[in-house]
Parts: sequence; structure tokens; C-alpha cells
Amino acid sequence: RYSKGSDVMGMLATVMVDGGGPIPRALKFIGTVFRHPLQYLRTLWPIGFAQKSIILLVMQTLDDSLKLVRRRRWIWPFTRSLTSAEGEVPTYIPVANQFARKLANRIGGIPQSSYNEVLLDVPVTAHILGGCCIGATPSDGVIDLENRVHGYKNMYVCDGSVIPANPGVNPSLSITAFSERAMALIPPKSMINVFSFEKKWKVQQLLATRSVGSRTSRTGTGGSRTSGVSRKKSKTTPRKKTNQAAGSSNKKKSKARAGSRKKAARR
Ligand SMILES: Cc1cc2nc3c(=O)[nH]c(=O)nc-3n(C[C@H](O)[C@H](O)[C@H](O)COP(=O)(O)OP(=O)(O)OC[C@H]3O[C@@H](n4cnc5c(N)ncnc54)[C@H](O)[C@@H]3O)c2cc1C
Repeated sequence: RYSKGSDVMGMLATVMVDGGGPIPRALKFIGTVFRHPLQYLRTLWPIGFAQKSIILLVMQTLDDSLKLVRRRRWIWPFTRSLTSAEGEVPTYIPVANQFARKLANRIGGIPQSSYNEVLLDVPVTAHILGGCCIGATPSDGVIDLENRVHGYKNMYVCDGSVIPANPGVNPSLSITAFSERAMALIPPKSMINVFSFEKKWKVQQLLATRSVGSRTSRTGTGGSRTSGVSRKKSKTTPRKKTNQAAGSSNKKKSKARAGSRKKAARR
């Protein structure tokens, strides 16, 4: 379903017309309008469409492909844009129309298709996937297991194109999961996101002595900004005393901590 307020999407839909056969689909559309004038008129009224309509998404397990090419538009502004190459995409999926009709019959609805399908014989797809698949070598795929483009340094692909095939469900969560995984695999760079005043006040070193072994990160430097301003005072703040209470009473532990502080500072 579309959410409330998405009624404008109803303007993309009209009465359902099958493709295939010798008669052009646009002619069949005119025939359908004459046979079902009331249904056609109802499809022209978009108010309430989002709340009253069910969108049926057809997902097949067939091995299919879509080739995108850059082509000049024949309508204004006549710019070049990506468009699918003709002849490769099925324009009509009979089982989808059969199912839509069956469902409409059950619920007393009107089976509909998009205008571009019935007038131009051009189908609609919302899930274009698989253009830059993962492969162990450049001959098997565009990217490796960490989303890095084979043969390029610091070039990543993190979008729907890395999903190798139709998962059979809506893909955006999988796309997000793949992208988050790729980001998590990028090692942190030292001194990343450090402001100039942080360098001047040696916040990094201060951070290293305050939280031994912690990694430099946005959260780390953010937290240190407050402590940086009052860093002299912080040596005697109760919080620090509590954190280090055990350490200050134990010489061995404080020696060990001093060692790890040095290590962290070197890092
Ligand atoms: C109508 C519709 C409904 C959908 N409904 C669902 C759904 O309910 N659930 C679901 O899981 N999926 C749904 N999808 C599919 C889902 O939205 C896509 O699979 C997903 O968004 C693809 O993610 P992506 O990162 O690959 O590309 P996109 O989300 O398209 O991101 C590409 C980004 O690149 C930007 N961009 C393009 N060119 C340039 C350029 N030259 N320079 C800079 N930026 C550029 C674009 O502005 C865009 O922000 C729907 C898709 C459509 C069209």
C-alpha cells in the first residue's frame, strides 16, 4: 500500500490490459475503455487511491536481465538519460495480470496497470539489482567480498547493484545491511576527524591518558572536548578519582597503566 497522502500515484494507473498477440496493446486499451467505461472513469479519480488500493509486486525467480543505455529523450528537456535497451525486458507477465484480476474479483476492486504498460508496452520495475556483483576475482565479479572494486584503490560500491539476484523480497534492507557491513570493514584511520584546536591542545594525548586503549573516533574526540577545556581540573575531579581509586592504591597496577598509556600515546 502507499501511505496516506500518496494519492498522486493513482494518476499512473488505469484499467488493466494484457499484452502479447497481434493487436497492439494501445488498441486493446481503447477496447477495454469502451467495454468498461465506469471502471475507466473510476480510475481517473485519484482522491483516496493510496488508502483504497493494494499494490501487487511481481517477483519471479527467472534469470532475467535489464540493459541500461544512455539515450536522448524525445520530450523536453531532450537531455540524455539512462533508459533500458529495447527487446530484453518482458513487457507483460501473464500470471501477474491473472492474479490481479482474481484478487480484484474477490474484493470488488478494479484490476489496474500503469499507463506506460498499457499505452507504450513498457513495463515498470522498482528493484533494479545486480549490476556490480561480488566475485573473488575480476573475471568473476566487479567487487570483492569487502565491496572494493577489483583493481582500484579506495573505490567501493555500496548500493543495490551488489545484490546478485532478486532476493524475492523488497531489497532496501539487504542493500543497507550490505553497505553497513562494508563500512564496518574499513579500518579506522588514526587522527581522523580531529579539529585543529584539538591538535593544539593535544587532546589526542589527553584522551589516551584518560581512556587507555580506546580508539580515536568521533565519539572519543567529542567527549574529550569538554575534558579538554577543563583538563587541569579533571585531574582532581571525583569521577577520575573513582575511576582510578583502585589503581592509585596499588603501585603495581599504576605502573602497568603508565606502560599502557605510553603505548596508547605512541599509537
Ligand atoms: C516506487 C518505488 C517503490 C519502492 N518500494 C520499496 C519498498 O517498499 N521496499 C523496498 O525494500 N524497496 C523498495 N523500492 C526499491 C528501493 O527503493 C531500491 O531498491 C533502493 O532504494 C536502491 O538503493 P540504491 O542505494 O541502490 O539506489 P538509490 O536509493 O536510488 O540511491 C541512489 C542515489 O544516488 C543519487 N545519484 C544519482 N546520480 C547521482 C550523481 N550523478 N551524483 C550524485 N548522486 C547521484 C540519487 O539521487 C540517489 O540518492 C522501491 C522503489 C521504487 C522506485
